[in-house]
Amino acid sequence: MPLFYTITYQPGGQTEKFYGTAGRRYRVAGDDLIDLHSHPVWCFRCGKVTEGERIESVRELDEKIKNLERLAGEIRAEARAEGRFTHDEPADHVQQSDLAHLGQRRRWRVARQSPPRCLSCGSTHIEELRLDAPFSCLTSGTIHLSLIGIYDPTSESREIFSAEGELLA
Ligand SMILES: [Zn+2]
Repeated sequence: MPLFYTITYQPGGQTEKFYGTAGRRYRVAGDDLIDLHSHPVWCFRCGKVTEGERIESVRELDEKIKNLERLAGEIRAEARAEGRFTHDEPADHVQQSDLAHLGQRRRWRVARQSPPRCLSCGSTHIEELRLDAPFSCLTSGTIHLSLIGIYDPTSESREIFSAEGELLA
């Protein structure tokens, strides 16, 4: 589920709520769709806070894959020890499906060339807004971001992006 935030502009002190969006996807090799992750950014072209791509590092993905492989191994070993091991529905089928998705995500990430983009206008001239460090810009002052929590959106975006982060439909 997406996150929502409060944005405070200093020195004026005015605040606004900022809701993340769920449902955006990349179209990758083989016409498969994978999730697009986003977070608040300052877009210099839009001149405001927008959502931008959050692109994890290959190392971050490798770490997730390694942890999940370890967990899958433990689940299989436990199932074998209890005599529950079957080939029809392996005990670790959920983890194996997640691993397949992560493998696909890793292939996309390795091939990705463009820096992260603003999801409103496509510009790569953006600055990630961080929870621990206010961002200062000439037009809007200093922007403080606070995380409020997660929310259950009433609708999801149907936008599809290219593997390089360009809006397709
Ligand atoms: Zn923009």
